[in-house]
Amino acid sequence: MDYLPNQILRMIQLGMKKEVLESRAIWLCIGCYACVTECPNRVHIPYMMDSLREIALAEGANIGEPDIWAFHREFLKQVDKRGRIYELEFMARYKLATGNLFQDAVMGMKMFRLGRLELLPGSVKHKEIMKKIREACDE
Ligand code: SF4
Repeated sequence: MDYLPNQILRMIQLGMKKEVLESRAIWLCIGCYACVTECPNRVHIPYMMDSLREIALAEGANIGEPDIWAFHREFLKQVDKRGRIYELEFMARYKLATGNLFQDAVMGMKMFRLGRLELLPGSVKHKEIMKKIREACDE
């Protein structure tokens, strides 16, 4: 991270909006909740990072980690399309979006050989429920 979570909090207090919204840190938080369990003040950093990502997108900020945003975007497109992820298509679209065509190719082949990647796309039974959940998230 370019800034630690406590630094992001302080930057918000100091009104450093552009620096916060264009930071890499808000995209690199994986929501592991380690900071939440340790924080004596019960500051919910992952919620804050989620909100900052949303604000960054809504305000058209320069995304600090465009590859991670591409990952999120392609992931959500898959969920909208099938209610679940079709890994082969997801990976292909993500690689095309980032231009990192051959990064992780060896691991991909390994997963394919181990039967961890489905050849044909699947779908959930009630895609309309997934759609409603996604719409509720967008409100
Ligand atoms: S949720 Fe995890 S990754 Fe995100 S700021 Fe807290 S400790 Fe770091």
